[in-house]
Amino acid sequence: LGESLVGALAQMAKSTVVDDKVVVDCLNDVSRALLQADVRFETVRAVQASIGSAVVNLQSLAAGTDRRRAIKHAVVDELRRMLDPAAGGGTGKPPPFFVPRKGRKPASVVMFVGLQGSGKTTTCVKYADYHRRTGFSPALVCADTFRAGALDQLRQNAAKAGIPFYGSYTESDPVRVAVEGVDRFRNADQAAAAEGCDLIVVDTSGRHSQEAALLEEMRQLAEATRPDLVVLVMDATIGQAAFDQALAFKQSVEVGAVIVVTKMDGHAKGGGGALSAVAATKSPVIFIGTGEHIADLEAFDARSFVSRRLLGMGDLPGFMDKIEDAMTTMTMAADQGQEGLEQQLLHELTTVKGASFTFTLRALYSLFRLVQRMGPLGHLVSFLPAGLLGDKGKQEEEGQQDKIKRYMTIMDSMSAAELDGADPMKLMMTKQQQSRINRVARGSGRPVSQVVELLQEHKRMAEMLSELAPAHVKRKRPNNKH
Ligand code: GDP
Ligand code: MG
Repeated sequence: LGESLVGALAQMAKSTVVDDKVVVDCLNDVSRALLQADVRFETVRAVQASIGSAVVNLQSLAAGTDRRRAIKHAVVDELRRMLDPAAGGGTGKPPPFFVPRKGRKPASVVMFVGLQGSGKTTTCVKYADYHRRTGFSPALVCADTFRAGALDQLRQNAAKAGIPFYGSYTESDPVRVAVEGVDRFRNADQAAAAEGCDLIVVDTSGRHSQEAALLEEMRQLAEATRPDLVVLVMDATIGQAAFDQALAFKQSVEVGAVIVVTKMDGHAKGGGGALSAVAATKSPVIFIGTGEHIADLEAFDARSFVSRRLLGMGDLPGFMDKIEDAMTTMTMAADQGQEGLEQQLLHELTTVKGASFTFTLRALYSLFRLVQRMGPLGHLVSFLPAGLLGDKGKQEEEGQQDKIKRYMTIMDSMSAAELDGADPMKLMMTKQQQSRINRVARGSGRPVSQVVELLQEHKRMAEMLSELAPAHVKRKRPNNKH
């Protein structure tokens, strides 16, 4: 989806006049891309209609840049609505749902349900660990007495993450185990284990392949354990089938139908089908699972998702959060030899942040340095604009690193004025300034074409960032959201 949409938008940006034909072509391209991404037909129609009417309102705007930019905004906005049930068209808002609070007594209980294989157990551990990292004291309870090995799977992963755990090898009634586990961590008066615990995460079996039976099991467990929140776990690869499941779930839980969509990483169609289907039921998606590793859980934010994954525009704010998280981890794991490094990273992070509005070549250089150093610590690369570093996973990372090195070598041969200028393209690409490009090319031992390529990439990125800037200003860190 990313590529075809970016293509459509780029095409539109190229044409000097935005006339009706350009708009219609663009709408068609966007629609085709959405359908290819498995987005529901009704949703595509709605998106198309509202982009169309947004564009009609633009007729009064001056032609040229403003109009093109406004159309681009309308597309991004509509895509975000499509994935955000709270902002979405139609009537009604998603019900308010419970958000765990640090230090809450008695501890909050969050129960995870979902079909077998959807990723419940994995997500329970990720979710508990996510909260542990932000200052909670979570505990895990295994109420899956059905699948052999379920208990060991959760026990081992809990131990690895250093999270207290409860489960039983002898009890076969899931309701009994769930109640015992919850009591153990909830009642500080009766159990030492409950001391300090403020979040109890209950994993269930989802042994049924039938929705009705699954919901019945959930109802029994919920009645016995009185969870504050029930979370449905769904596999993104089921695509639009997520609609029926999410709807049935929403109609049968009283405590707020909240959903995690897993396996967003391994899905060729980018998960747009499942996400738009869930949004259509007005159930909030709180997290997405993006891999098998414990850290592969992301707080879901529709705007960030649209710009980063769907459009491949890159999401600098998300990138910043990721870096800050990684730095916390690094501080904790830092060994002696690495002292100066963190200092440097902090400095560069500040440079990049300060550059959110004037994205100079120097800021790009800092960004590259960060990617080089922090790369292995997270999927940082996926936060950058698609064209620049690609979003195609490991095979390409090698090439990306080379590209970054090449660009940095070129920038090493630039003057301060060139690195800090607000519009380096203008500074270096005019006829009179030809000598600047030649000098940089000679100095870095790179062909002129590569210098030009760097300037073009930089310009593209600066434009994208300036368009995302309003969201950046308003955006808060997502840590305390869930
Ligand atoms: P459960 O039966 O619902 O408890 O599912 P599990 O948690 O045991 O997960 C089933 C499989 O999906 C396991 O192999 C997990 O590693 C895998 N899995 C879970 N979440 C993700 C995800 O976000 N991405 C990927 N690629 N795999 C996942
Ligand atoms: Mg399981």
